[in-house]
Amino acid sequence: MKNKRILREQNSIEKMITIYCRDVHRTRKGLCAECEHLLAYAKQKLDHCVFQGNKPVCAKCTIHCYQDTMRKKVIEVMRYAGPRMLYKYPVLAILHIIDSLKSKSKRLNKNIF
Ligand SMILES: [Zn+2]
Repeated sequence: MKNKRILREQNSIEKMITIYCRDVHRTRKGLCAECEHLLAYAKQKLDHCVFQGNKPVCAKCTIHCYQDTMRKKVIEVMRYAGPRMLYKYPVLAILHIIDSLKSKSKRLNKNIF
């Protein structure tokens, strides 16, 4: 069975990529091939995340498991869709902020998404 945090993060990233693809790539339905690939990649990374339930939010994670090109893409998606998540999916966004505050990190909460 999957961890609840992991499931929630997979759900959040899917929504963020969907927002990004629709607005930036002008995809009307579903995702374009590039975003489909990015989502599959992100989900698979979460499935294999070594921290599972104790996972820090990705922005604060000490293990940067994404390969460079994917990392750049996902950061772009989060930058774009992160703030928009607050309006569209406030509950998910707030849970993410709480997760982010709970994870132990010396960094300030500048990189919530
Ligand atoms: Zn796209």
